[in-house]
Amino acid sequence: MMRNITSALMVCLLVASCTAPAPESDTYATFMPVDHKILAEGYDQYKETDIRTRRFKHDTLHGVFGEAKRWKAAAVGQSIEGRTIFEYTIGTGPVVVLLWSQMHGDESTATMALTDIFHFFEASDELDAFREDLLSKLTIVAIPMLNPDGAERFRRRNLLDIDINRDAMRLVSPEGALLKARRDHYQAAWGFNLHDQNRYYAAGSQPLPATVSFLAPAYNEEKEVNASRGDAMRLIGIMHDVLAQYIPGQLAKYDDTFEPRAFGDNIQKWGTRTILIESGGMPGDPEKQEIRKLNYIALLSALQAIAFEAYPHKSLQTYADLPFNNSNRFFDVLVREVRVQREDQWFTVDLGFRRSEINNADATNYYYRGSLSDMGDLSTFFAYEEVAGSGMEAVAARVHPSVFSAPAELQALDPVALLREGIGYVRLRQKIGPMQQKGLAVLPIGETQEVADQVNYESQNTILLRSEAGMVKVIVHGTVYDLEQDADKIRQRWAALTAL
Ligand SMILES: [Zn+2]
Repeated sequence: MMRNITSALMVCLLVASCTAPAPESDTYATFMPVDHKILAEGYDQYKETDIRTRRFKHDTLHGVFGEAKRWKAAAVGQSIEGRTIFEYTIGTGPVVVLLWSQMHGDESTATMALTDIFHFFEASDELDAFREDLLSKLTIVAIPMLNPDGAERFRRRNLLDIDINRDAMRLVSPEGALLKARRDHYQAAWGFNLHDQNRYYAAGSQPLPATVSFLAPAYNEEKEVNASRGDAMRLIGIMHDVLAQYIPGQLAKYDDTFEPRAFGDNIQKWGTRTILIESGGMPGDPEKQEIRKLNYIALLSALQAIAFEAYPHKSLQTYADLPFNNSNRFFDVLVREVRVQREDQWFTVDLGFRRSEINNADATNYYYRGSLSDMGDLSTFFAYEEVAGSGMEAVAARVHPSVFSAPAELQALDPVALLREGIGYVRLRQKIGPMQQKGLAVLPIGETQEVADQVNYESQNTILLRSEAGMVKVIVHGTVYDLEQDADKIRQRWAALTAL
């Protein structure tokens, strides 16, 4: 308790307009008319079902918003490639809340959540009185997919190859200039800067990923806290308390270093209470559909905390206590304490694998390219999937001695039997594209392609794990297959290859 008071006073000293001590009791809940559980329970009836994966395009998104009866659409600008950037508004209240998403084209989680929030406000049901009340207090302005050219290619940067989030000073990008113009037009009271972050961040020192990270961006190098940044911190505290019910320990704070070229930092500086939300990784949720739902719950909770003025009744302590993102603490796969060979000697090491998503030609799908990204003592790291390597040896997969012409010739081979013999590759004259190799445990390679004969740092080669009883697992491009449990899956996928 003493610590709470001291820290509140310290913050207060930095707050220019702080004349009375900030309320430190968390009594905000009584000002929140709709419990987050009700929002979560009703989610499925509002969820936009045409968008189910992270890769969707401008046309699909605005097709969804095109069904609007209550939201008003306005074409407010164009991307470099000529895609219309739309702004959607609802509500008649005096407090303007501006939300923008997907400034980075490959960060679409919050855009998906905005389609669900769109439907929430289009709906008519037992929450009508709440909606009406909320929309009499707020004007909600959403700019989903600020970077449609980047989204088209599912990549971070815009068509000029610049990072829009480093363009808030110079405003060279039409997308960045547009965001500034809309903020200035409304002089928005609140701004939500919606992103996705690296899924290898841990939440502080916890062995858990930072599934959602928040930031009330700094508006100067000194990271001072004025009244409006303080309000943003209080609101984040409320969103934290809500999400902690769903993902305890998986909430963190983004790096708060002032970046003079970033939008969040500048919008905070321009007087809008700004909140950054970063959607990270979550085990078992590669397409981020659960995190999308969490965004929906957090954003609707934030909107009501603003509308019904709950946020002044939240202390600053929760924000202060949020752990920072701990970068690069996670691997996709971590094999602990396995033996590897160099010359005639065996050594015990940990093996950490990470995988990258490589888009297909039209960026509607992807495949993984994985590599052994670290080896040695990785005891201070965590992983989405851990493998106990004790008593096992890690060895490089070998190549089948024959050369095959076409996939049909591979039908006679059993991929599980090959892996048990230590074989992870077959040479095939007919070229098989990477998308057609997706999910294969035994990879087709070209007639002359070389393969390392030992476990090598940074190598993309297939690694097998061998126990006394024989081969038990294989790791292919950062994905683990158990030769027993996944045998059917491995064979089914192989059958699809040989049918090509
Ligand atoms: Zn981003």
